[in-house]
Amino acid sequence: MTANLPVIGAAPEGVPELHHLKPQVDPSTLVHKQLLRGPFWQRIPGWREVSEAEFLDHHWQSKHTITRPEKLIEALQGLVSSEFVEDVRVGFERAPMSLRVSPYLLSLIDWEHPYEDPLRIQFVPVASRLLPDHPKLGLDSLHEQADAPTPGLTHRYPDKALFLPLDTCPVYCRFCTRSYAIGLDTEGVEKVHFKAKNDRWQQAFRYIASRPELEDIVVSGGDAYNLRATQITEIGEALLAMDNIRRIRFATKGPAVMPQKILSDAAWVDALTAIVEKGRKLHKEVVVHTHFNHPKEITGITQAALDVFMERGITVRNQSVLQRGVNDTVETMRLLVKRLGHVNVHPYYVYVHDLVQGVEDLRTTVDTAIELEKNIRGSTAGFNTPTFVVDAPGGGGKRDVHSFETYDRENGISVYRSPAVHEGQFYLYYDPLTLLSPAAQERWKDKAAQDRMVEAAIERARGRVRPWA
Ligand SMILES: *Cc1c(COP(=O)(O)O)cnc(C)c1O
Ligand code: SF4
Repeated sequence: MTANLPVIGAAPEGVPELHHLKPQVDPSTLVHKQLLRGPFWQRIPGWREVSEAEFLDHHWQSKHTITRPEKLIEALQGLVSSEFVEDVRVGFERAPMSLRVSPYLLSLIDWEHPYEDPLRIQFVPVASRLLPDHPKLGLDSLHEQADAPTPGLTHRYPDKALFLPLDTCPVYCRFCTRSYAIGLDTEGVEKVHFKAKNDRWQQAFRYIASRPELEDIVVSGGDAYNLRATQITEIGEALLAMDNIRRIRFATKGPAVMPQKILSDAAWVDALTAIVEKGRKLHKEVVVHTHFNHPKEITGITQAALDVFMERGITVRNQSVLQRGVNDTVETMRLLVKRLGHVNVHPYYVYVHDLVQGVEDLRTTVDTAIELEKNIRGSTAGFNTPTFVVDAPGGGGKRDVHSFETYDRENGISVYRSPAVHEGQFYLYYDPLTLLSPAAQERWKDKAAQDRMVEAAIERARGRVRPWA
């Protein structure tokens, strides 16, 4: 089995021979280190002539980003079947999210097998795979708006808050939790809008400064990639100037969908670096949180971009969303976690998919998350091991998947408590119906049976609450 390994040679005299208690590993099996390189975008007919210099330029990426289904179909001419094209066309008519796909993403998709491709699944809806929503689903299932003291600022946890400075992203994900706000209005959804407006920001800053218990601000969106360099500076400076603020995170999906910006938008990277450095001098932590879901999203270009952050001393953490057919197997999740570590990104969370409209095909069960966690923990450094969480519908916040009071696997109902957020309240998460037994699916069709199942789950959870809790 060691035939293909480099021969290290016999030990010099006086040095003891090596004793291998574990079998040798063939380096070619360490696939997390094998990143896609070379002009892979030239597989797309329209981009055969696009040079590396052009493809690495974020202006070129933004200019060629596809935002209309007709344009997508045009770009795919000759790559996919006409049936698939029709499936996509109808898919867009029904989708709650608008379309936005960067050339980088588009060229990473395997268009010979578009139905199975993990990136296609995340960004391009097809009508034939859509499933009816769960009966318990609502827009803004996380109650972000209910917990908002000023528009676009969610203060749910005692010491941290989520600030949404704008409502646009470099791409739009089908599964977006904030489909109530992000992107343009669609046929089915008229959205709340959070424009990058100075008076709204000032109102949020005044609130944050007025709450001494707030120490930690997540600047999300939308996406910090879509903030101009001057806006990164403005937000960073305003928050760093507040005595109460100790930690800031800029959240962006950018590194996963358009790493080119980090390689070619010097003003943006410099503005971010300056805030990180200013924070460091003030002994405050400023980091980046990003969002990779599949190992295929990490290429040689990603590594080059994240090397820039590494050299600038910018910590990057990752939050993934668990999605059926994308990253719900042990093999894929292990590879993702190992590859993130390889490019110096710390896996932080894996979220069980929120109850979001129009993406029932992407959700999976709490049980799947538990099984994955069991298989991932121990495969790499503990600090590179993500915590698997459910963001409890109804505003309970993130809960460790294992911490449910009860979990009725048969009917797919898990009940969580969140004492640090709301003492005495129960939060229910529902597994997707299509992964339940036929008998359970039948029960969910009946409104009275639904109420009985839910009440029984809450009743059991109540019985589990310890008297001292
Ligand atoms: C996720 C989230 C945070 C940050 O939570 P962490 O567990 O510290 O990452 C803060 N506020 C809201 C509303 C959130 O959803
Ligand atoms: S990048 Fe994040 S906020 Fe933007 S559409 Fe995707 S999931 Fe939603």
